[in-house]
Amino acid sequence: MSGTDHGNGLRADDEKVIGAFGSSLLEYAVYTLDPDGVVSSWNPGAERLTGAPADEVVGQNISIFYTSEQNATGYPRELLRRAVESGSCTDEGWRIRKDGSRFWASVVTTALWSSEGRLRGFARLTRDETDLHTQLERSLRQFHDLFVLTPIGIGVYDRYGYLVDSNLALCGLLGYSPEQMSGAHVTDFIHPDEPDKPNLLESFGAGAPPGRAPVREMKLLRSDGQQLICELHIAKSVRPEGDEFWMVVCQDVTERNRRVEEWRYWATHDELTGLPNRRALDQLLANADMSGSAMLYCDITDFRRINESLGLRAGDELLMELAKRMRGDLPEGWIVARLASDEYLVVCPDVVGAGGVETVVTLVTELLHRTVHLRDHPPIQIAASVGVAIAESSDSTIDELLRSAGAAVMEVKRGNRERFAVASTALIESMDRQVQLESELRTALENEELALCYQPIVDGDGVIRAAEALVRWWHPERGKLTPGFFLPVAERGGLLRKLDRCVLRSALREAVTWPPRADGGAVRASINLGALSPGDPELIDVLDEAVAETGIDWGRIVLELVETSLINLSARGLEVMSELTERGVRFAVDDFGTGYSSLARLKEFPIEIIKVDRGFVAEVARDSTDLHVVRAIVDLATAIGCRCTAEGVETPEQFEALRGVGVLSYQGWLFSYPVRAGELRSLLESGSSCLPEG
Ligand code: C2E
Ligand code: CA
Ligand code: CA
Repeated sequence: MSGTDHGNGLRADDEKVIGAFGSSLLEYAVYTLDPDGVVSSWNPGAERLTGAPADEVVGQNISIFYTSEQNATGYPRELLRRAVESGSCTDEGWRIRKDGSRFWASVVTTALWSSEGRLRGFARLTRDETDLHTQLERSLRQFHDLFVLTPIGIGVYDRYGYLVDSNLALCGLLGYSPEQMSGAHVTDFIHPDEPDKPNLLESFGAGAPPGRAPVREMKLLRSDGQQLICELHIAKSVRPEGDEFWMVVCQDVTERNRRVEEWRYWATHDELTGLPNRRALDQLLANADMSGSAMLYCDITDFRRINESLGLRAGDELLMELAKRMRGDLPEGWIVARLASDEYLVVCPDVVGAGGVETVVTLVTELLHRTVHLRDHPPIQIAASVGVAIAESSDSTIDELLRSAGAAVMEVKRGNRERFAVASTALIESMDRQVQLESELRTALENEELALCYQPIVDGDGVIRAAEALVRWWHPERGKLTPGFFLPVAERGGLLRKLDRCVLRSALREAVTWPPRADGGAVRASINLGALSPGDPELIDVLDEAVAETGIDWGRIVLELVETSLINLSARGLEVMSELTERGVRFAVDDFGTGYSSLARLKEFPIEIIKVDRGFVAEVARDSTDLHVVRAIVDLATAIGCRCTAEGVETPEQFEALRGVGVLSYQGWLFSYPVRAGELRSLLESGSSCLPEG
């Protein structure tokens, strides 16, 4: 560098200019030195900074302001040499004031040249930066303390991936001493299973490590060979000299990840059996081609009963044993999941390959039927209903298959099939129809779209003693629907109780408007209870409410029960029956003879009426056996204080035969079809007999 460029006029009379310039800058020490470093001018700023006046300093070598160590190494001279070499040089360091105290000086030294290119001396600008330096030092020290103390591993790498610096936490994390760590390569700490390892090796090798992806998870390798999962925060930085380096903050997340994994596992697995649950099934089969596979929906028969009789612990033990068998004994590649308490799902990936549906079902059911040995109970054997859905194409979704298999298992549970059922298109369609009807029925119930017909029940003279409420559904598109069609829909949809409540209320509301018989007696309303039974606490509430609302006399209410609701009746139910009987309510047993109950059992209940099923009535005029049966029923009924009503009386012959064996009341088309409410009222008002002419 040539000396003539320097100074911009300083060359002419530099000392004077510097002096004038320097006197106005009290913040700075501005002074000149001769080529040997002897002070030739000294401004007031220099006086202030060093505490030494110009007359003491001018003529002295500048080395008096340096520490003895600096002087011993020739440091003051070295600075001048550098300024000569480069034109100017900057420096920072401790200097000494006149009183011996130190200050941190920031120094710029510029070489001064004559026009002939001879070194004339140096101009210097020195500033006291003690405060700034102290501050910087303090924060550096703090930073260093933090670096050392922080429990999170930190490493500084050069652009080729060699470790330049690391803190104790990183050493501890990776299991090396600081000495072992120093100079190690970044890839030395990466686990061989880390898929990114080759890329990293390559990019660091080329001196171009990845500059992006500030947060990433990586498998690291400890000195003892153990694998760690670490979250790495990576930042690229540049040193003042222009070198790039990488700071890596490294946090061990092995345990955290393990816990997350565990949560995820239990969210998708059943805690009791460890089997995947419904949610996991979606994940397990997410990318599977389902075509040709079969889903078997297995429902343990009567599990609730087993649970109730053996206790919950034994129930759990049983479920675990079944899960263990299915997991262990089914062919490889099959999936077993638990859908609900006693419902398992088996997925067979290839039905044809496994020998066909029957073979597959047999395999699964035999597994379930094998005797189970429970700890504190005798060995038991269970049975299961199985619904099968076969994926015919790869379009079949898990949801569809599950729904179909579920529909098929319902078929078995309803007794429509034995052992197992395979979902067919017809079954799926009927299931869809069922769902549709169910929702329509729900709406109809809410909007009170169901109407009641009434069928008179007459005595031997044809006088109407009572009327049975028979429900009808006026469907907007399908027209009039009979209970035989929609009661099963209500039952499957859990709507039967609601329907019972509705009918009960409407029937009582209408019955209060019926005129009395010619002899002044009131006509009774006979109401069918399908789901509500006397054991239901709700029944008495609904009755209380309806009676309070309508003001109907309790004595006009007849409740028709089916035999099954008597068989399972609780002690409380019996109490309710007695209580209602005391209020005047009568109970009838409907469809008598179709169930299993014997008259002997019936006498335990406060029953007043036995309705002899249409099945016996139909042949009563032609088949003497049926006539004998009816006669026996009537005799026994009378013996236990009941009266009989014959149902479905269609012909005068039947009527005669029944009257002959002591039946006292009759119901059937011979007397009247079920009629609308208005028509029943007209019939009652006319007071005429329902007996056919002649
Ligand atoms: P159910 O209680 O035995 O009612 C008598 C059934 O026999 C009625 O059928 C009635 O229309 C029919 N029927 C009456 N006389 C004759 C006859 O001479 N010949 C023939 N072949 N049939 C006759 P419906 O109304 O279709 O009711 C069928 C069943 O639905 C009833 O049998 C009853 O179990 C149930 N049901 C009807 N209405 C209700 C209701 O409001 N609630 C409940 N829970 N069940 C009801
Ligand atoms: Ca009935
Ligand atoms: Ca009946």
